[in-house]
Amino acid sequence: MQHNLARARACAPQAKIWAVVKANGYGHGLERAMRGFAAADGLALVEPDYARRLRELGWRKPILLLEGFFDPDDLAMMQECGVNGAVHCVEQIAMLEAAPLKGRLDLHLKMNTGMNRLGFLPAACAAAYARLRAIPGVGTITLMTHFANAEEAAHPSLTMHEQIRRFRSGADGLDGPRSLANSAGVLRLGEPDLDLASDWVRPGIMLYGGTPGGPPAAAYDLRPTMTLSSAVIGLQDIGAGDVVGYGSHFRASGPTRVGVVACGYADGYPRHAPHGTPVLVDGVRTSLIGRVSMDMMTIDLTGVPGAGVGSVVTLWGAGLPVDEVAQAAGTIGYELLCALAPRVRVVEA
Ligand SMILES: *Cc1c(COP(=O)(O)O)cnc(C)c1O
Repeated sequence: MQHNLARARACAPQAKIWAVVKANGYGHGLERAMRGFAAADGLALVEPDYARRLRELGWRKPILLLEGFFDPDDLAMMQECGVNGAVHCVEQIAMLEAAPLKGRLDLHLKMNTGMNRLGFLPAACAAAYARLRAIPGVGTITLMTHFANAEEAAHPSLTMHEQIRRFRSGADGLDGPRSLANSAGVLRLGEPDLDLASDWVRPGIMLYGGTPGGPPAAAYDLRPTMTLSSAVIGLQDIGAGDVVGYGSHFRASGPTRVGVVACGYADGYPRHAPHGTPVLVDGVRTSLIGRVSMDMMTIDLTGVPGAGVGSVVTLWGAGLPVDEVAQAAGTIGYELLCALAPRVRVVEA
């Protein structure tokens, strides 16, 4: 985590870094993420309860709620705990106007530059900004937007260039820090034709050794922070025509040694991962066969003659990038990391 944070720093030497720790630190555990990113300038997340928890755990630097507050209780917590938050809709502004602030509250004004998820359209930002500025107690207003396709050089529907252009026009004349890039943006910060400069960046996935798409994480010298591993707990030797698992989806075309691995969808391994999804057994690459069940999965050990009960199986992480497993399973590394189930025993290396 420290190494990956340093990589983000090297990409964005002029900017301050919000290390994004939402979703329980992308599945790594909030406290573990907090310790791993101790050198970040702030921690950003979505869950108000976890923002309070970060203060209880001793985090003294800034905290940002990326979706802001959902009700007046959240606003009270933000003031009590000194938590910064996004304002993305007029309903939130009305909530702020209705409840006199007891202290100072720093905010992020979220601009919708084409993603059409959260935020004010560029043309509506000045008015929203003015309303926030008029509220006694509101401190720094940071202007922020979020990219839809930062990992693609030229998306046919919405380019990062276009989002940056809209952001600059909506933010024109408004005072305050700027916050633009997620991991994909951070990794592209050096590109000469991109006006990506900002005061803050908000990397998430890259800090956990994953990529948002494009070249593999190793190409950016990012290291996996989570290795999911288990062991072979059973063996079956089957012949041509024999089938494996629920639904009997896999049929052997010849003599096949099946390894049963103690890991399933109740551990966070995706049930929809198809035959051929890569796994490592004692460091040798082989693949999933048959359907993933709740507590187990079956793998092909035919080409790994040394393997047996007790062999270590890596599902993702060191030696097997989570992005590669995710791609085979038709999803993204983010989803696999976030879905790590509470029953998985965590061992800190
Ligand atoms: C999750 C999130 C990020 C981090 O995105 P990554 O792709 O993981 O780097 C940044 N900004 C906002 C607003 C987010 O919600």
